[in-house]
Amino acid sequence: MPFTKLGLSDPLLRGILASGYTSPTEIQSEAIPMALSGQDIIGCAQTGTGKTAAFVLPILSRIFRERPVKAKKRVIRSLILTPTRELAVQIERSIHNYGQFVGVRALAIYGGVDIKKQLETLHRGVDIVVATPGRLMDHMRRGSIDFGAMEVLVLDEADRMFDMGFIDDVRKIIKTLPEQRQTMLFSATIPPEVQQLAAGVQKDPQMIQIGEQHNPIDTITQHVYAVLRQQKLDMLLHMLQNRPMQSVLVFSRTKHGADKIHRKLEHADIASIALHSGRSQSQRQHALDGFKSGKYQVMVATDIAARGIDVRGISHVVNFDVPLYARDYIHRIGRTGRATNAGDAITLVAPDEQEYLRKIEHFIGQRFEPEQYEGFTCAQFMASLSRTQEQTRSQRLVARVRKASRKPRLTRRGRGKGSHLAVAH
Ligand code: AMP
Repeated sequence: MPFTKLGLSDPLLRGILASGYTSPTEIQSEAIPMALSGQDIIGCAQTGTGKTAAFVLPILSRIFRERPVKAKKRVIRSLILTPTRELAVQIERSIHNYGQFVGVRALAIYGGVDIKKQLETLHRGVDIVVATPGRLMDHMRRGSIDFGAMEVLVLDEADRMFDMGFIDDVRKIIKTLPEQRQTMLFSATIPPEVQQLAAGVQKDPQMIQIGEQHNPIDTITQHVYAVLRQQKLDMLLHMLQNRPMQSVLVFSRTKHGADKIHRKLEHADIASIALHSGRSQSQRQHALDGFKSGKYQVMVATDIAARGIDVRGISHVVNFDVPLYARDYIHRIGRTGRATNAGDAITLVAPDEQEYLRKIEHFIGQRFEPEQYEGFTCAQFMASLSRTQEQTRSQRLVARVRKASRKPRLTRRGRGKGSHLAVAH
């Protein structure tokens, strides 16, 4: 279905065209008409599917169509809650892009920067606030923000809000919002805690699920290399110097690790930068902008950059450390292969990380074939990796046989409007 059939007004269609989009993505085709009708939505879509436009366009449509009469200044019509500052900035930019012919005013509210400018902008009046929970609570305590006229609430990356420990703040914020509102919740995965949150804050939501929940998007090629921990840095360097890797996002489990990798690369004259929560907000934005513009070939980051961050044309994601949580793997590798571009995900697995690799395999329902990287081979470890894989395979078979003899369970089936809970065996 083309954008023109989704029920969006002309100025929005012009904004979409100016953003270079020719046809809606799947989540946009499904969510936009539903959101325009005022329906509450749970959107479960993999990262990079175009979900920002799926909720921003209906919000802009509402703002454009129904301006409050005789309001002295702009009032906040919509609140979008996001887990990270970078994501807040990114969504604010998307609002300005899509809404460039609508005359919309949006403000990103996040910590790590002077609050004064945010206070001034709020005082002048804005239509949409995109916020991280911590700084928003700060504004609420000061009484500098008024949600009395808020109509649409979006909870973006809801699963990440839980992972990052923001959920109590999110609940507190929602309690102060008008009850009469539309609530859209987006999450890459829908674990039970997110279902519970949705049940408490939404009214009769429609579920939209795009693609299989756990499978990394089709455009990404995944590689796993078995390597000793002490050889990882040299191996990464060798890869960067000998393979065509134009734009590389390297994930490290710790801030210290990210700095160490960055220093090593810098020392070898590779244009690199680090992004983690130990850096100031302006350093973080500088890193992201420099990586986006191509000034830095490599950005070394912690999981802070794993969610939502949209940098076009990342050719490779390297998991320098195997992520501890399987779902972080999906988010990390989803930074490449965005929209319809292809991308490579490379995971370096050391002997003490085999357990995490197994969890990822289990989560995505796919088995990796670990490879060796020439010059960094390690026969003993490869042999042990293959052995454990054999064992896991037979354990899984036993588990499957046991499961087959258990009671039926509830599972979510189908996609789109007709989604429903069904009994599966
Ligand atoms: P998102 O999942 O919202 O972060 O979007 C992922 C990427 O897809 C971003 O670079 C968007 O600009 C891009 N995108 C979103 N919608 C479309 C579309 N309809 N056509 C082409 N690209 C899109």
